[in-house]
Amino acid sequence: SKYRIWQTKKVLTTCPHCATGCQYYLIVKDNEIVDVEPFDGPSNHNRLCVKGRFGSFDFVHSSERLKYPLIKNKETGEFERASWDEALDLVASKFMELKKKYGSESLAGFACSRSPNEDIYMLQKMVRTCFETNNVDNCARVCHSASVAGLAMTLGSGAMTNPIYDITNDVDCIMLVGSNPEEAHPVVGMQIRKAVDRGTRLIVVDPRDIGLSKKADIHLKIKPGTNVAFANGMMHVIIKEGLADEEFIKTRTEGFEKLREIVEEYTPQKVSQICHIKEDMLIEAAKMYAKAKKAPIIYCLGVTEHSTGTEGVMSMSNMAMMVGKLGKEGCGVNPLRGQNNVQGACDMGALPGDFPGYQKLKNKEVLEKFEKAWNKKLNPNEGLHATEVFPASIEGKIKGLFIFGEDPVVTDPDTNHVIKALESLEFLVVDDLFMTETAKYADVILPGVSYAEKEGTFSNTERRVQRVRKAVTLEGEMRLDTDIFIDLMNRMGYEQPYLTSAEIMDEIASLTPSFAGISHERLDKTEGIQWPCTSKEHPGTPIMHVGKFTRGLGWFYPAKYVESSELPDEDYPILMMTGRVLYHYNTRAMTGKTPGLMEISGSSFIEMNTQDAAELGVKDGDKVKVSSRRGEIITTARVSEKVSKGESWMPFHFPDGNANWLTNAALDEYAKIPEYKVCAVKINSYKE
Ligand code: SF4
Repeated sequence: SKYRIWQTKKVLTTCPHCATGCQYYLIVKDNEIVDVEPFDGPSNHNRLCVKGRFGSFDFVHSSERLKYPLIKNKETGEFERASWDEALDLVASKFMELKKKYGSESLAGFACSRSPNEDIYMLQKMVRTCFETNNVDNCARVCHSASVAGLAMTLGSGAMTNPIYDITNDVDCIMLVGSNPEEAHPVVGMQIRKAVDRGTRLIVVDPRDIGLSKKADIHLKIKPGTNVAFANGMMHVIIKEGLADEEFIKTRTEGFEKLREIVEEYTPQKVSQICHIKEDMLIEAAKMYAKAKKAPIIYCLGVTEHSTGTEGVMSMSNMAMMVGKLGKEGCGVNPLRGQNNVQGACDMGALPGDFPGYQKLKNKEVLEKFEKAWNKKLNPNEGLHATEVFPASIEGKIKGLFIFGEDPVVTDPDTNHVIKALESLEFLVVDDLFMTETAKYADVILPGVSYAEKEGTFSNTERRVQRVRKAVTLEGEMRLDTDIFIDLMNRMGYEQPYLTSAEIMDEIASLTPSFAGISHERLDKTEGIQWPCTSKEHPGTPIMHVGKFTRGLGWFYPAKYVESSELPDEDYPILMMTGRVLYHYNTRAMTGKTPGLMEISGSSFIEMNTQDAAELGVKDGDKVKVSSRRGEIITTARVSEKVSKGESWMPFHFPDGNANWLTNAALDEYAKIPEYKVCAVKINSYKE
């Protein structure tokens, strides 16, 4: 072992990878993190996955960390070391110059959903007070914006309804839709597996064979992009079998009649054809879910990342409302959010139409409240969504962009399009830990600090606000991100005093009713607090919508099935989905710095069906060229029955063949989320 326990200190904090929000100790020796030790936190109960256990500290100490500001030399195109004064003066003056020349709507900022709430709050405050625009967004746009929009419309709150422990412990039946928690949210996956071992029924709705589908009572291997048809079919059966909860529908909801008319058409026979599933399995699943007393729906990006993602989400809440499984223990509609603090990025108002706590910009009283508190006249016009910022940049409408801790070149669909958008900007600033693919296009790069070097809070997928604590101080000129934003605000002419992270949370609480009772001091004495927490005495809200929906009555959204925007055809005959693997988190900016993880999982691949591979003369392990209308990549074929004939699947973590060169940027109408889960590709064997 590289340390003796008495030489170390332990710092309790929250894992920075996925939104499960596992609690652990960082073990620190001589200002270096040497290990991680699990803690009995409310969502992990002493469990950790490989990313949390082994991928949480190499990146903090990586020699590749950015240590001082960089300014790109216009002539050579090379980055040159700069002082903070030079860099921040340039950033502030350039943004103000662009604002004067092109107007405030020509500027935009993206918040980092890996960073603490306090950082995100300050970033959106900077964009709103200094850029004077609401062009502020976060990467939820490309993962769960459909959940935020869909659940807000139907239930009134765009968040997971029940705690992780509640929906995995002692429930009768779990319905898992478009979610592979054993890879993407492993500690949730472990708890589901344990529940099934103890007798919980499991329905898996997923186009692929996943680890948990082997344990499922029913696996509906639906065609990608057909979630709405599947849900309508389930509800058709539930009504026909007399399993709808009439009382709940009558007293707690509205809009049922319209929905009933629509689902009438979705007979098991019709749905079996659309979804490529067996009629009797659909009927069996509907009965199993409806009859179970405690039965949560747990879903993920397989539901949201479609051009009909928001309707997919609303179909999940339709199903749960129809059987009265909301506002109750062990039930609900539960999106597993991706990034550690993507819930928080939305909660903190890094959204173009919402102030912190989903207070609407459109509401005059809300706007006036923030104007008074921030002592500044604010722009009342809703801003652009992140996915609209890039097309707007290509059209010449967005000129200056501040990107905090995001890497859209890797994560966003249609990489060529993203690069073109970044190149069209007059001024790009990136605040990050590493020289990311996106940072390479920046004019100025500002080095921020990681979760292990600062105080703050993350909000996990179950709305639980938990503390992040400082464990180490590293050598270099990096600054706290909140200090960077505050310094810039002052340089852009807005007087913002320096605040500690705890003081920023106090400001958040004073302006945000659902956070009113939350403070660092209180969090330090508790297991974290689940919002809404409306006063210092309020205990927080583990289960939402008890007795009454946030919206008042729950609303049944009448969704009809619409096909994905790009389906296979003669030229591009194979449908491709994208997803994640266990060992990495998204762009690998963090997990890619852990040699052990890269050894196990270091390069890209595409999963193909055995029959398709045979027809194309491709064998397992062969190199293949995969192309779509937007780009092409070379990768390795993995041939199996995991995906159905005519379908394929690819992770997007790896630079040696990132699926996003191929994906389609078609957007959902409500949430503007792109259709990562369905596009058409052609696969050919490739000889070097
Ligand atoms: Fe971290 Fe998520 Fe793994 Fe927990 S499940 S240790 S939060 S990556």
